[in-house]
Amino acid sequence: MKAVDVAIVGGGAVGAACARAAALRGLEVAIFEPGPDSAAASPASAGMLAAQIEPGDDVLVALSVRARDLYEPLAPALRETTGIDIGFWRSGIAAVAFDESAADRLKEEVARQRQAGLRCDWLDGDEVRERWPGAAPEGQGALLAPEDGALDPQALTRACLADARRLGATLHAEKVEALAITQDRVTGVVTARGTTPVEHAVLAAGVWSPQVRGLPHPLPVEPLRGQMAATAWPDGCPPAILYHDRGYVLARGADAVLGSTMERAGYDARVTNEGLAQIFRGAVRLLPALMTQPVQRMWAGLRPATPDGRPILGRDPDVERLWYATGHGRNGILLAALTGEITADLLTTGVPDVDIAPLRVDRFR
Ligand SMILES: Cc1cc2nc3c(=O)[nH]c(=O)nc-3n(C[C@H](O)[C@H](O)[C@H](O)COP(=O)(O)OP(=O)(O)OC[C@H]3O[C@@H](n4cnc5c(N)ncnc54)[C@H](O)[C@@H]3O)c2cc1C
Repeated sequence: MKAVDVAIVGGGAVGAACARAAALRGLEVAIFEPGPDSAAASPASAGMLAAQIEPGDDVLVALSVRARDLYEPLAPALRETTGIDIGFWRSGIAAVAFDESAADRLKEEVARQRQAGLRCDWLDGDEVRERWPGAAPEGQGALLAPEDGALDPQALTRACLADARRLGATLHAEKVEALAITQDRVTGVVTARGTTPVEHAVLAAGVWSPQVRGLPHPLPVEPLRGQMAATAWPDGCPPAILYHDRGYVLARGADAVLGSTMERAGYDARVTNEGLAQIFRGAVRLLPALMTQPVQRMWAGLRPATPDGRPILGRDPDVERLWYATGHGRNGILLAALTGEITADLLTTGVPDVDIAPLRVDRFR
């Protein structure tokens, strides 16, 4: 059997974006995705493109800003080729401060980001309430990242998969149990139906990435549970994405999406009363009118977290033609399109136009 150029293990947002980008460069792509698993991160995600809201790591902020900006051309391109609207909107995210020390910290962050050439503003409390009537009545102000935004993560995954298939990629509803490795080189992927010969394998199986047999070293990716809920968006409040360190709320159509927890609960993706209580408390502080809205849904998913909060991208140093696209933690929707571009560059030219040294798997060894 002729080997396919590349097997993508996992068809969440990250795997789907890798598959599309590789297929666009003319590679023959086979996507292996048995689910999605009910605990998968992408369908559970809020879909915020919060490049400037969770700062702290300069490498990640630079990568995130670049990743976010890729959606500007990608959203219309996907709509054109697949007919799927990924719900990309870019009306800014406001990180609200509820006390003086948070306000001081965010003001410093505004100054730092401006110095780095990014658009970022400080709104005082009244400006916040003028822009979003009824929001954050006790808020002391907010960092506004006007170029941040959100998209619909399920639509993104669907659109990338559809586009990849349009370009010739095949989708196999099979779980990859192991990698076939011969003389330190990937030669195939093994499922219950047998071995598919492949030239390259990209591991994009989210929190399940470490479970694929045949990896040369344990992979430091662990599940970090996030619980979510949705209610109706209150009438009379303009759509917004409001954030603070204990929760966030974003408008998606007629819904308000409320999140989220960060919990180490193994592979358990159930919602708990404690988690929901935390989410509702946080969201109501941002938008008190949510208090009386009917709850529509609640759910949870598992973020693939790494010890330093950065994803794992690039080649394996010991096994040739094994590539990683995993460990995207809290920002995998934001980083999905860029991860696809980087991975496709690696598979074709070997040289991405982003320095991925701080993201390589060997940083943990
Ligand atoms: C509650 C919550 C809120 C979030 N909010 C945001 C946000 O606002 N913005 C943002 O950027 N990020 C957010 N994230 C993070 C983001 O969702 C993840 O980083 C991202 O979805 C990871 O995508 P992935 O494709 O790597 O993993 P997943 O979406 O988990 O996909 C992995 C896929 O691999 C498949 N799979 C598993 N094992 C195998 C196997 N052996 N063979 C083949 N396939 C396999 C699974 O079925 C699954 O579909 C959030 C996450 C959660 C849980």
